[in-house]
Amino acid sequence: MVSKYDCLKILKMTKAIKFHFCSNCDKEIIPGEYYYKENIKDKYIHALNLKNYCTSCFDKLKLYFI
Ligand SMILES: [Zn+2]
Repeated sequence: MVSKYDCLKILKMTKAIKFHFCSNCDKEIIPGEYYYKENIKDKYIHALNLKNYCTSCFDKLKLYFI
């Protein structure tokens, strides 16, 4: 299901400073590793349920984000 904010979401490559889990495959993203973090372009919208993706899921899923 697509929420009304999905069009505003962008993925930013980020270096992890703490542990995260990939929202797609549940892989652990360890500090120092790069991952992709969802961001909202509009800074006035406070983001709900932003997802994190590991680099391999980003490679698999990137077609959906272009
Ligand atoms: Zn993943």
